[in-house]
Amino acid sequence: MRVVLLGAPGAGKGTHCKKIVGRYGLLHLSSGDILRRERAEGTDLGKKAQSYMDAGTLVPDDLIVEMMSKAVKAAPRSGFVLDGFPRTVYQAEALDRALAKDDSGIDVVINLQVDDAIVVDRITGRRSCPKCGAVYHVRNMPPKEAGVCDHDGAALVQRPDDTAEVVKNRLATYYEQTEPVVKYYKAQRDVRDVPADGDADAVAAVLFDILDVLK
Ligand code: AMP
Repeated sequence: MRVVLLGAPGAGKGTHCKKIVGRYGLLHLSSGDILRRERAEGTDLGKKAQSYMDAGTLVPDDLIVEMMSKAVKAAPRSGFVLDGFPRTVYQAEALDRALAKDDSGIDVVINLQVDDAIVVDRITGRRSCPKCGAVYHVRNMPPKEAGVCDHDGAALVQRPDDTAEVVKNRLATYYEQTEPVVKYYKAQRDVRDVPADGDADAVAAVLFDILDVLK
């Protein structure tokens, strides 16, 4: 099964992808996570991506398309769920071309819909574990002990691009460059719009209903 999960930053793509991969045995391909790994390892790509990520703008298409085409091609036969990619119409077209080469298109495109005010609250309250990647929210999903990861005791950090200032840029970038991707897919296929303002378990139940029939 090949799933594309769209939505603004803070819509819950990462959270729901984790639930989806657990249930269906898919590979979670998050362009943001791959870029953060490249940065942590100090690779050329990581260095090139750094300034764009810190400013909340998009990393150039050619770098992202190369990185994600490789990841998609290396995915297991069970399939994958894409999180944070494609983020421009150029990237969506490149993904279509990459998948057309081995005759395997996307099975479903899901669009998580969230109010801007909720996005800002979710992102600025988000804290993550630098060791295992677990994600918390200071109010909605706090760790057992404030500032400490439940799984490995590491000190939680705020992503540098999760500050109020950068979130504004990330939302503006979303409306300018990524919302057209939703229109791109809607012009060629059924896109499943899922309201995602509410409780994460309730949203996950709707996603599972959509995906169970594709199993
Ligand atoms: P995310 O974790 O998905 O919010 O991504 C964090 C940052 O990585 C974004 O603000 C962008 O700077 C960069 N990024 C992630 N995915 C892409 C993409 N598909 N195209 C361009 N830049 C991306």
